[in-house]
Amino acid sequence: MKTTPEPIRIRNFINGQWIEEPGVKTIPLFNPSDGKQIGEVPLSTEAASRTAIESCHKAYDEWRRQPIARRVKYLFDLRRAMEERREDLAFAIAIDQAKHISEARGEVQRVIEIIETACGLPTLIQGETLENIGANIIGRVVRQPLGVFCGVAPFNFPALVFGWFIPFAIGAGNTFVFKPSPQSPYFMQKMCEIFTQVGLPPGVVNVVNGDHVPTAAWYDDPRVRGICMVGSSPTARKIAEAAGRAGKRTMLLGGAKNYLVAMEDLQWDVFIENYLNSCYGSAGQRCLAGSIVAAVPEIHDELVERIVAASRKMKVGSALDPNIHIGPVISAEAKARIEHCIDLGVRQDKAKLVLDGRNPVVPEDIKGGYYVGPTVFTGTAPEMTIVQTEIFGPVAAVMKVENLDHALKLIRAQEVGNGACIFTQNLYYTEKFIAEADVGMVGVNVGVPAPHPYLPFGGIKQSLVGTDKAQGRDGIDFFTQNKIATVRSAPPAAGRHAAEGAKEALEPKTSAVKSCTAG
Ligand code: NAD
Repeated sequence: MKTTPEPIRIRNFINGQWIEEPGVKTIPLFNPSDGKQIGEVPLSTEAASRTAIESCHKAYDEWRRQPIARRVKYLFDLRRAMEERREDLAFAIAIDQAKHISEARGEVQRVIEIIETACGLPTLIQGETLENIGANIIGRVVRQPLGVFCGVAPFNFPALVFGWFIPFAIGAGNTFVFKPSPQSPYFMQKMCEIFTQVGLPPGVVNVVNGDHVPTAAWYDDPRVRGICMVGSSPTARKIAEAAGRAGKRTMLLGGAKNYLVAMEDLQWDVFIENYLNSCYGSAGQRCLAGSIVAAVPEIHDELVERIVAASRKMKVGSALDPNIHIGPVISAEAKARIEHCIDLGVRQDKAKLVLDGRNPVVPEDIKGGYYVGPTVFTGTAPEMTIVQTEIFGPVAAVMKVENLDHALKLIRAQEVGNGACIFTQNLYYTEKFIAEADVGMVGVNVGVPAPHPYLPFGGIKQSLVGTDKAQGRDGIDFFTQNKIATVRSAPPAAGRHAAEGAKEALEPKTSAVKSCTAG
């Protein structure tokens, strides 16, 4: 099996330099496809984070003053370098996160598209002007950067989340401290090489590795203006509390559990293809994974038959094997947790396990990998643990629902609300679902309703702590602050009385009611 030529030494990247903290603790980095150690990840301290913030702060003043076209030129260069190295980057994702290589390529491609969108910042960041607010008075709104932003990524999208945060943040003139997940830090090491290659000024992006410890330095530092996170909802709430106390703006995208609603008039080929991708893609480790299948009675039994037959054909194996469909999950702990959930589904929930993915058969040389095959429960109900828990593995819970209203009621009752999809050809069902599904992202005949980069990405309820979403207009708003200028231009003294419209502005301030415009 293809592997890294030598052990991966994950290092921090601060002020354009590779930095190793002396005596810092490390944890092993594994390749989930075979369970072998491939490197080490430093558990950086708060001190490393403070150095990174200092470096970002120093870089900020000059960076924000660069003409926007020059800042965007770096984004064009990043994009080009990523295109040139797309295989290398995809391999990095496939080796430590163990996303299947075809999906890893897709993730790199999506980041390239996000950067392309951010290259439009000179247009996207433009403000507004309102003339003639009063005589010779105009109002103007300008969008400005804030300063230093910090962000953490989840293990399952090491590249995409970089894309959500950094191109928009730095393109708008901010600087950024990024902490990858300690389970999938390799992609960002490659990106740091690219930052050097394109000559990104030192300190514009700094990368600090580790667990939650280095993030503790972010809250009490007044130079840090905003904190972003993509991860589980409990982590989002913890960050929200600390950031709220410190008065920082936040973008916090949390966990999920998503419905696929199958109506009686669905197109079977569309549904099955999308079901397989949605439920088993990334081995189910996706915030938009459709892991609850709600089917109306007319098609329920046929749906179970068809998805079980299609699921049986899904091959499980190494993330680097182009002939397989489902790679491993991220760690031995994740595998054990998913298997425990399957066990609970049988013993506690009393759901019917019609396809058991525990201990799938894989080749001898990857036996140490963390594999769970496609798993399907039927006879499930909303109160069951397997329906309520974000299992984050290739496990589907199929339930019979009476009709669309019933499915919508169940979606509304969920604590989370990231995505939901409907499979139908009926316009009434479609429009009703879009209007009433209580989630942030809706799909119609689409299994993973991930919006394109020019549109916002994010859920509602516990899937989004706070209000700010990633990418699109929302992403730009998050990384900029509005400044509103009110400008009165008095004509030169000699021409004042002649100037059309100047009279009102020069009248003695005796009127009983004054406009609040311009004080
Ligand atoms: P996680 O919450 O365990 O960790 C996410 C990141 O936060 C990691 O970098 C981790 O080191 C860091 N972290 C953990 N505790 C922290 C703390 N107290 N303070 C600061 N940082 C802390 O999540 P994970 O297991 O890496 O990722 C999976 C989760 O992410 C799932 O719940 C999934 O749904 C969610 N996710 C959501 C989206 C979305 O768009 N809503 C996208 C991808 C993943």
